Amino acid sequence: MRIKKTVWVFSMIVLLFTLVLIVNSRVQLTSEVIVGGSDSVFVRTDNLDDPLSGYTKSETSNGNKYAELEFPNINITDWEYILINSGKPMNSYAPEVKQFEDSGLYFDSRAIKSLTALVQAARDAGFEPYLSIGYRSFSSQQQVFNEKASELSQDGTYSYEEARQIAAELVAKPGTSDHQTGLGIDITDKQYDIYDYSKMDREFFAWLDAHCAEYGFIKRYPSDKKNITGWDEPWHYRYVGTEAAAFISENGLCLEEFVSHYS
Ligand SMILES: [Zn+2]
Repeated sequence: MRIKKTVWVFSMIVLLFTLVLIVNSRVQLTSEVIVGGSDSVFVRTDNLDDPLSGYTKSETSNGNKYAELEFPNINITDWEYILINSGKPMNSYAPEVKQFEDSGLYFDSRAIKSLTALVQAARDAGFEPYLSIGYRSFSSQQQVFNEKASELSQDGTYSYEEARQIAAELVAKPGTSDHQTGLGIDITDKQYDIYDYSKMDREFFAWLDAHCAEYGFIKRYPSDKKNITGWDEPWHYRYVGTEAAAFISENGLCLEEFVSHYS
């Protein structure tokens, strides 16, 4: 009887210890993740499901490589570098915007000349770029998100709450979209109802990737940075000014990595 009691107490201690370990590991996953040491790139990945899962050793050593780079001498609080993402949501940012050509699409008025120059250069190179989404206010992002959640819950497969969670993987939650900066733009080689990268013209994107920095643009959500940005959107470009754009693309960074160096 006494032995049984000892075994029972021991089992409970082991169980409790295991539970503490599990809870602790979950807590660590939702805190700030440092890649490549304190002197190098670190990125807030609080809202990603498992921020460490996508990292390979070489990406971590790239973190160390970035630490040795000489970053441009800029003021990171200037408007071009504004960072909006799931770890840094913003509800009230409202830049002055202007319509791009007669497209019904709006862009930050301070950068619209650069957008026009980029599109013109693409046309001169023989492409017919199609611009689908530019500036989105917080409320229009909210509307797009709610519409997606309603659509998903319509046939009753998901509750509205479940549908909202699924929608968050397809559409940025209100307050977290780069389109709210007024500096993000979705550009494709023609009009698509559904964005399917496998059906898009790779030559067009190769041209954009090679030349966008000349006009101050970067690829905002490159496929190989999804574990940092949370998104894989090869058609989404972002104005940051020519100096930062050249540096970011030459060194294969994403905006999160660039900005975190200064903060
Ligand atoms: Zn986009």
